[in-house]
Amino acid sequence: MGFTTFGLSDHIMKGIGAAGYTVPTPIQLLAIEPAVAGRDIIACAQTGTGKTAAFVLPILHHLASGTGLHAGGKLPRALVLTPTRELCQQVQLAVAKYGKFVSLRSTSIYGGAGMEQQIKALRRGADIIVATPGRLLDHMQRKTVDLSGIRILVLDEADRMLDMGFINDVRKIIAAIPSQRQTMLFSATISADIKTLAANILRDPQTVQVGERRNPAETIIQHFYNAPQGSKIDLLVHALEAEHMQSVLVFSRTKHGADKISRRLERTGIASAAIHSNRTQSQREKALEGFKEGKFRVLVATDIAARGIDVSGISHVINYDIPQYPEDYIHRIGRTGRAGASGDAITFVAREELQYLTRIEKFVGKRYMVNAYPGFTAAPQHAQMQSHVSPPSRSGRTAPQHDNKRHPQSGRTATHHDDKRHPQSGRTAPHNDKRYTPQPGRKKPDHKKMESYSSDSGGAGWSNY
Ligand code: AMP
Repeated sequence: MGFTTFGLSDHIMKGIGAAGYTVPTPIQLLAIEPAVAGRDIIACAQTGTGKTAAFVLPILHHLASGTGLHAGGKLPRALVLTPTRELCQQVQLAVAKYGKFVSLRSTSIYGGAGMEQQIKALRRGADIIVATPGRLLDHMQRKTVDLSGIRILVLDEADRMLDMGFINDVRKIIAAIPSQRQTMLFSATISADIKTLAANILRDPQTVQVGERRNPAETIIQHFYNAPQGSKIDLLVHALEAEHMQSVLVFSRTKHGADKISRRLERTGIASAAIHSNRTQSQREKALEGFKEGKFRVLVATDIAARGIDVSGISHVINYDIPQYPEDYIHRIGRTGRAGASGDAITFVAREELQYLTRIEKFVGKRYMVNAYPGFTAAPQHAQMQSHVSPPSRSGRTAPQHDNKRHPQSGRTATHHDDKRHPQSGRTAPHNDKRYTPQPGRKKPDHKKMESYSSDSGGAGWSNY
């Protein structure tokens, strides 16, 4: 489903098109419609879900169409409060981007920047103000801003705003805004404090929630393989060939990386395309169409570019680079195993990426084993390189040299799973996991003989490499 169903004006649709969006994200699907209808919204959504457009597009819609929102004159009509200066700038950029073809003015008001510039911008007049609470209060006290015309209020990342101690500032600001307004509260978590705040400032809100999913669909089988950074590309080619994967979405952390992977696959004779924000709209469309039609067996994407990808029948998701944020892991692997179909999610884990695996484990509440990929041997120079890397242990234990953990027969880095209980969850590690894949024809590594090191600087490590 596209953006056309929301009843947004052509000018706003043009802005969305110029931003390169074709498919609304889940939070946009849930929030835009009631927000356009004028409802108060309480939305549970994390950064990266597309939440900004979920409130900015309705603001643009209301202000540009002017339905009942005219406060007259130059007074600002919409206010977005954000906890940080960075987010404030980011949101204002989003307003400018989505509102490129709409004649509305916006300005950002945040601390650490000159007052004079902000006063001038406010004097010139702004329809939309994006502000951090402290600096906005400064302006209110100096009477350099008048909030009596505000008809739409957004609290973005409200939980963070409370964590940072802005609650009193927020209350004072809200007290200066007309009570006849539309209010939207966005928060990554909905705590008791957020509920209390919402009860005080929202009227009959529509609650929408995304991004809270912590459990990957049961239809997705997850595999983690150890992969020294330098041998990931060889492992990818090996895996694609060994498993006859048909429709594969590969995630790269960087745009440059995505291009490199795709070019290398092409050279190996594996039809592939890359999709990321540096590619033109038509290149992206071509890549996506080709992937959907089966012309490309592999689509290499960055997280951001992958947001608009809505392709059914992806058999494998491969995290070439393990994501830094667990939410991204859940989103990524959710691209396969859709609508009850089965799918495989494969994650390559380099030694220096173990900390991210630990984050995922904590988030999901499960431990995962990192195995050696059956039948794959990292090029010797990589193995050698690895042996010089000191494991990132703060546990006080002496980290084993990589060589110590070589598989007795293969000479490869051994994979093993610690028997211990998870220090935090207390759960027993699933060491009888069917996904444990010892090297074909070789004995399972002897865990007792091998040392382990913590995968996590916080001491919650148990995954061994
Ligand atoms: P946000 O959660 O609002 O910070 O958005 C995260 C990223 O997703 C931003 O880089 C947006 O540009 C991008 N984004 C938002 N909506 C869409 C969409 N419908 N399609 C593709 N990308 C999007």
